[in-house]
Amino acid sequence: MIYPRFMADSFWNFSEACELVGARYPAIPLGLITVAALLPKSWNVRLVNRNTEELAESDLDWADMVMTGGMLFQQADSLELIDMCRARGLPVVVGGPDATSSPHRYESANFRILGEVEDIIGQFIADWEQGTREGTYVAPKFQVDVTKTPVPRFDLLKFEQYLYIGVQFSRGCPFTCEFCDIIELYGRSPRTKTHDQMLAELEALYQLGYRGHVDFVDDNLIGNKKAIKAFLPVLENWIAQHDYPFEFTTEASLNLADDGELLAMLKRSNFFAIFVGIESPDTETLIAMRKKQNTRRSIPESVHKIYHAGMFVTAGFIVGFDSERGSVAEPMVELIEESAIPIAMVGLLYALPNTQLTRRLAREGRLHVDHDSAPAGKGDQCTAGVNYETKRSRLEILRDYRKILERIYDPDAFCGRLERLAGMLDCSGRRKELPEGDIRRRLSTINMVHELLSRLPEGRERFWKAFTTCMSKNPQSVRAIVTLMAFYLHVGPYSRYVMKQIDRQIEDLEAGRFVAPKLLPAVAVPEPTAPVPVAVNA
Ligand code: SF4
Repeated sequence: MIYPRFMADSFWNFSEACELVGARYPAIPLGLITVAALLPKSWNVRLVNRNTEELAESDLDWADMVMTGGMLFQQADSLELIDMCRARGLPVVVGGPDATSSPHRYESANFRILGEVEDIIGQFIADWEQGTREGTYVAPKFQVDVTKTPVPRFDLLKFEQYLYIGVQFSRGCPFTCEFCDIIELYGRSPRTKTHDQMLAELEALYQLGYRGHVDFVDDNLIGNKKAIKAFLPVLENWIAQHDYPFEFTTEASLNLADDGELLAMLKRSNFFAIFVGIESPDTETLIAMRKKQNTRRSIPESVHKIYHAGMFVTAGFIVGFDSERGSVAEPMVELIEESAIPIAMVGLLYALPNTQLTRRLAREGRLHVDHDSAPAGKGDQCTAGVNYETKRSRLEILRDYRKILERIYDPDAFCGRLERLAGMLDCSGRRKELPEGDIRRRLSTINMVHELLSRLPEGRERFWKAFTTCMSKNPQSVRAIVTLMAFYLHVGPYSRYVMKQIDRQIEDLEAGRFVAPKLLPAVAVPEPTAPVPVAVNA
């Protein structure tokens, strides 16, 4: 199993923060190790993650078959791997979200396993054992019973390579955001694992000796509130019985803030941070993108409620929607400042394959020809976004975007948000000491804080001041504040890098050098009305 490399230049790799604590990459290849658990016990599996280690010739010599696959921004490396394997006559099997959304990009692989794998892997294994060496297997949409999904093969991981380990409780999200591919891949009716299953996963990690940060990778952990509320007391009990070996994070929709009981349950279960998709300060834009759950509320107040419950918020924002009437820079910066969100992932809108947005743009004839191929050298939507013909001028969108990055990742602005966060984050009841073996313990010594600050490319004095201010305001917030400062080691310089890239695009537009990519002709793409039927081994 080979997990393809993500492009190096990305908001999400937090490379400097990883280096600080001795890790090599933030997240594990949870999909591949779940597939590994579904394979026959007699098959020997070796895992190579190209984000954390080198693929050796001897690995390929050893293998009878290579399984690979990942997300859009792993596409280039996936295709390179497929070519490499085919050149040496090694059969290669590809799956995962990008192959599922854009199977035509992966025609060079011997096998394509598309969609959720659990119900179709058996057919693939039987065919392979009988000598089949080519085929496509398509899972019926949203039908997998995740209560039957086995415990992922955590034993294949080298824990020390990662900032955190992922587990998954649910698949799917009930909301309808136009730009989102999660609801197309996993459906709008969240399916959840059983309590015993989740405890077995946590127990497996515990028995393997892992201690530290565990991320629930669910795209919306509270998509089925009843199910998560039933599970959290079980989790709370387990974590207390095991003397708090893990601290948790997850993603959730902003309506989490409306449920005080759920917030308190998450806090008691040792959750310390939540990623929330906020997207835009503009209500009309939120309505147009079908993200109504973020309307009819004060977004800053909702974020502050999560702070008062003891969890800090990181958030996603997007620039480039059709409904933006004019500049969104000022209101977006104000919203980030007022909410006091230190780490805001602000990206350009990217029409991902297999979304309502992409189907609409296809109908309107506004998609760039290569909209579904990962652009060379670009690691995420910060530099690769706007892969469609815009309604508002492209130049204005890019100027807006640049202005936002410049403002929010200015050291003074970032530190100001840290200080305001420290004033709101209620860490009462949270354990001061992290467990033995948790790599984040390295961040808790004053020497490490010195080291962190000495690595900052700019504004060190301002960061010291922020550190001491946060300590005097709320000493218990120290862990969160230092963690966020460690993330700034990456996002500060990365935002400057993105600004340079955007500057180049702006200059080209201003000088008339920008050549607009060709557009695909308008096509009548219908919205899917029912789950796609099964097509096995076509
Ligand atoms: S809330 Fe998140 S996961 Fe759910 S549809 Fe919207 S973007 Fe997708």
